[in-house]
Amino acid sequence: MIYLTGDVHARIEGNWEQEAGGSELDAAIRYLEILKKHKIKTTLFMNGISLKEESEKVKKILEFDVELGGHTYNNFGRMSIFKSYFRRKFYGCIYGSRGYQNKDITKTKEEFEKMGLKMSSWRTHAFGSNEETFKILKENEVKFVSDFVGGERAHEENGIIHIPINIPVDQNTIAYGLLKPENKDVFASCTKGRISPDEWLDILKKRIIKNEKEKKNSVLLIHPETMKVLDNFKLFEKVAEFLSKYKTGKLSEFRTY
Ligand SMILES: [Zn+2]
Repeated sequence: MIYLTGDVHARIEGNWEQEAGGSELDAAIRYLEILKKHKIKTTLFMNGISLKEESEKVKKILEFDVELGGHTYNNFGRMSIFKSYFRRKFYGCIYGSRGYQNKDITKTKEEFEKMGLKMSSWRTHAFGSNEETFKILKENEVKFVSDFVGGERAHEENGIIHIPINIPVDQNTIAYGLLKPENKDVFASCTKGRISPDEWLDILKKRIIKNEKEKKNSVLLIHPETMKVLDNFKLFEKVAEFLSKYKTGKLSEFRTY
């Protein structure tokens, strides 16, 4: 079984990908059109502020076979190196204090409810959660959380079903444009894409084939905006064609294989 997810952000100041690709909600609509052609279900994680301020686009998104999950209210607000350092140092995570997280999650849930949606799934922006986050999510009746990355199997803990991403994420993995020698430099920043789109697609296919053979779920994160900026969804078309051979589900339909 395949669980395809995507993160869709409201405007983030100074975000180069958004400067190149425009609105992430528009990219999400293109993404969903491609998935519709191939009858693939998906879960998109969205900011509470998008539901409030871009509700027309959100309504368009909801016309597709998609589940919306929460992705913080507004990506922690304006972030600075200082704020990020401070939060990590004092609260052990970038999402900040319990008080801040509680307000943020509640506010996000309220925007979902105003649109008649139940917020059953969640991914913290930048995977910036800690144990407090999961407790607050539980109090807000969120059941499915996808904040971990790696080979760990999905598991239930304190009423939350954790569904780790187990396929390499597109962003910060695939290099934009031509692969340059610096992308292969072993000392390059780990945020620099190191492989070409086709190399990534090849890894994705092999991992999914292996998972299916071993009766393991595959959980993917592919960003609509990244697919747009990378090559205007050409790579994503290939991904969708491949995924269409398998059974797909939304996160709140998650079952251990
Ligand atoms: Zn995010």
